[in-house]
Parts: sequence; C-alpha cells; structure tokens
Amino acid sequence: MLEDKSPKKTELSSLGEFGLIEHLTRNFSLEQSTSVKGVGDDAAILQFGDRQSVISTDLLIEGIHFDLSYVPLKHLGYKAVVVNLSDIYAMNAMATQITVSVAVSNRFPLEALEELYEGIASACAIYNVDLVGGDTSSSTKGMLISVTAIGEVEKGNAVYRKGAKANDLLVVTGDLGAAYLGLQVLEREKEVYKVNPKNQPDLSMYSYLLERQLKPEARKDIIELLQKLEVRPTSMIDISDGLSSEILHLCKQSEVGCNLFEEKIPLDPTVIAGCEEFNLDSSLVALSGGEDYELLFTIGQDDYEKIKGNPNFTVIGHMTEAKEGAHLITRANTKLKLEAQGWNALN
Ligand code: ADP
Ligand code: MG
Repeated sequence: MLEDKSPKKTELSSLGEFGLIEHLTRNFSLEQSTSVKGVGDDAAILQFGDRQSVISTDLLIEGIHFDLSYVPLKHLGYKAVVVNLSDIYAMNAMATQITVSVAVSNRFPLEALEELYEGIASACAIYNVDLVGGDTSSSTKGMLISVTAIGEVEKGNAVYRKGAKANDLLVVTGDLGAAYLGLQVLEREKEVYKVNPKNQPDLSMYSYLLERQLKPEARKDIIELLQKLEVRPTSMIDISDGLSSEILHLCKQSEVGCNLFEEKIPLDPTVIAGCEEFNLDSSLVALSGGEDYELLFTIGQDDYEKIKGNPNFTVIGHMTEAKEGAHLITRANTKLKLEAQGWNALN
C-alpha cells in the first residue's frame, strides 16, 4: 500500500469544478505547434495544414449525471452524443466523428447496451457523424459513458469564449429552463412511483419539458444559419450549466462586463406554467437550471440587422467594460450582481 505522508487534504468542493480544472492544468503549456487552443473553451483546436480539428470530451456517470430509473437507455445514448456535439457547434465548427467509451457492471445485459447504442446510432444519423472508436470495460457499480466528439472548422472561423467586446449584443437561441423543469417532473414522478407503483401518470402536458430533458438537441442548425446570414459571433459558448454561469465564462475570458435583462430571457409558456406548479422562479430556473444546450453568443452591433426578427434568436443584453461587472437588470429595474449558481458536480 502507498502510504500517504502528506497531512494536507483539501476538499475538492472548496475549489468547485472550474477552480479544480484551473488548478490541475495551471502548469501545462501548449508546446506543439499544432495545438491552437487548449484547456478552457468548449473544445480544443488542433491545426493540420489549413485545416483545424475541434475536439471535446465528456464523462457521464450513473447516479451523478443520469438516473436509469427514469431515463430510457436509448435516450441516454442519444443525449450522451448530443451534449458533446453541442460543444463542437459552440466553437462554430461542424462535428464529424465520435468515439464512445462505456463501462458497465454485471447488472446490465446485452440488450441494455444494444438499446444504448440504438440511441447513439440515431444521434450519429441525425447529426451526420461517424462512430470511429471507443473503449469497453466493466465497472464495479453502475454505468459510465464517455463520448469524445471531433469536428472541423476552417482556419480563422473558430469562435472562442474569448472575443466579446464592450457594446456587443448578447444573444441566446431557443428558450431556456425547460430541461431543468423536465428533471423536476421526472424526480417527482419517481417519488410518486415509489409510494404507488400502480399509478399511471398522464405526463402529456409535460411533453416539451420531458423532451428537453431526455432528448435534447444540439444547435447544428444555428451554426448553418449564422453562416447563411453571414454573422460571425465575437464569442460563443453552449448552455450546459445555466445561463448565468455561461455568461460569466464569456465575461471572464473576454475581459468584459455585461448587462443581462431579465424581461428578455426567452421562456416557453410551458416553462412558465411549470414554474408556477413547482413554485419556482422562472428567471432563476433559466439562469441556473442548465442542460438547455442552446447557444449563447455575442455579436457586434453592426450585425444586429442580420438577426433582427429571426425567431431563433433573442437579444438578452449587451456587454460592457470589465470594470462595470456582470449584472442582471431585473423586471423591477434593480441591478443585481450576476452570480453563477450553475450545476456543480463537485458539491
Ligand atoms: P463544458 O461544460 O463546455 O463541457 P467543461 O466545464 O467540462 O466544459 O470544461 C472546461 C474546459 O476544461 C474544457 O476545455 C475541458 O477540456 C477542460 N477540462 C475539463 N476537465 C479537465 C481535466 N480533468 N483535465 C484537463 N482539462 C480539463
Ligand atoms: Mg460547453
């Protein structure tokens, strides 16, 4: 046995997920001329001749990221791919390949893995990416899935989290908060089921919320649309952890501040109704819920005319000088400091 001679033990939760990543990677530098972008964005960028490859990876663990008591394996396979593709699109790149690694305990029969791979195949077909490898192993408990997505982007076309300027407009696609509410519905039904397994709930009124949670889509269509509209965002990120957390990433890396207007945050009517039912604040759900997999980006004011009136886009604020900080302007016109209460796997 290795003996631990170090008396120092720092709780990981004291650093938080992003603090931990920064800490662990702080002494690594990029030495290869082909390494264009390393740790710190939605994906890494590697340069080969005139072509750039974009790479992103995610690890999903049963009991932490998904609960198989209500997530069908087919949906899980689909979602595991989609959340990775979302990081590729967030670089303004197109996804081309994936690798998939799985570890399972002996609780899973072949049929379970076949179902998982049906979902993976469906995502590959819809997003036009090839499965080109992976790894398979056993685990002592539960299921682990890791997907790596690879994409490509023309040199000079990648969009980073860094690049937003003061006065740029802050734009979000689609609507926010539905995936989080879908999770609340599923968690509630799980509790009901525990008490009364014979209960057959009618969840049809929650179909949008459940779909957003169980079968999210990545916004490949938006990358194509931006190209068609000839809009090149100055910075971009996908919304996995919640709007406020992602805005703060853009602000930090771009060294700007931001004014976000609460009244502008796009919410589906079913999200507003669901928030009333669950007694939740809809803005808080949009700000902190996460798993929306929408794109959040900034554009120069000159590009506003090109996106104006397009139902895919909502201007929710603007960037400011860094010294002004990041703020939420509430419906009551009070200015609150924007805080990241995003989902944190380490807490
Ligand atoms: P996202 O939410 O877009 O998937 P993450 O918050 O997971 O991004 O990761 C942020 C950045 O940190 C990415 O560039 C990612 O590659 C990098 N990263 C995350 N975990 C590690 C790790 N253990 N070692 C090195 N880099 C990491
Ligand atoms: Mg991301």
